[in-house]
Amino acid sequence: MVKDAYTGKMMEEGFSPDVMAMLACPVCHGNLLAEGDWIRCGRCQRRYPIEDGIPILLADRAQQPA
Ligand SMILES: [Zn+2]
Repeated sequence: MVKDAYTGKMMEEGFSPDVMAMLACPVCHGNLLAEGDWIRCGRCQRRYPIEDGIPILLADRAQQPA
């Protein structure tokens, strides 16, 4: 169980589709996908960390694909 950082509701896993739809990659504005402890951009493939349930969607925190 994780606490949703936006609604405060407890969820089974990851982020709800509604929350994910609100988020976009700060670099390319592509759609984001929850991937374990990471949020991955479906367009540029950068990964953003999730810390304490909050996605850190900052370009300078992104891990770029190898
Ligand atoms: Zn992107």
